[in-house]
Amino acid sequence: MSLKTYREKRNFEVTSEPGGKAKPAAKSAKQASKGSLIYVVQKHRATQLHYDFRLEHNGALLSWAVPKGPCLDPAVKRLAMQVEDHPIEYAKFEGTIPKGEYGGGTVMVWDSGTWTPEQSDVNAALTKGDLKFTLHGKKLHGSWVLVRTRGFGGSSKPSWLLIKHKDEFASTEDITSTEPKSVVSGKLLAQIAADHGGDVEEAATGDPVVSRPVKAPVKKRTSTAK
Ligand code: MN
Repeated sequence: MSLKTYREKRNFEVTSEPGGKAKPAAKSAKQASKGSLIYVVQKHRATQLHYDFRLEHNGALLSWAVPKGPCLDPAVKRLAMQVEDHPIEYAKFEGTIPKGEYGGGTVMVWDSGTWTPEQSDVNAALTKGDLKFTLHGKKLHGSWVLVRTRGFGGSSKPSWLLIKHKDEFASTEDITSTEPKSVVSGKLLAQIAADHGGDVEEAATGDPVVSRPVKAPVKKRTSTAK
């Protein structure tokens, strides 16, 4: 695990994203088995709207960009492009990345909690490209799998598929639409942008249409009878 790529992509004098510790501590296998590994999904309205799916492993956050976000329907496979590992501290980041910077836009903590690997050797599962795990989030629960695919992407952004396993938490509910708000602040993207000096109009395009604040209609002047 290295945060080299993460740091190279960012200018920490400009962005308020965390730089991460020099030597992050990996949790012991005992700690990991207790379900204390961080899990977070950050909804990110950058050039394209996507959901950053992150799992703590060996002192960093393994990260995948999921354009359509997670889906509770086991019949649906969601493309997940693996991106650079992020620092553990990133799990708490909600706010604005300045325009022109890498990932410039608005970031929301869409879901958070912990995760448990379903395989004893996570490194072997990652190498094989078949990682099974259980999520203990506020929105996402139960068993999931990330499967690496051939084809799409390159060595810099290998593509995986994020799939819900069949269990009591599987459903046809469109959770990205029904649960659009931050689990830490209760805000929509537009409200986060407004509170962090971001582009409110652009951020709002990532919020569900029904949730966007409706502008008061301009009152038509009614002609008064004489
Ligand atoms: Mn992102």
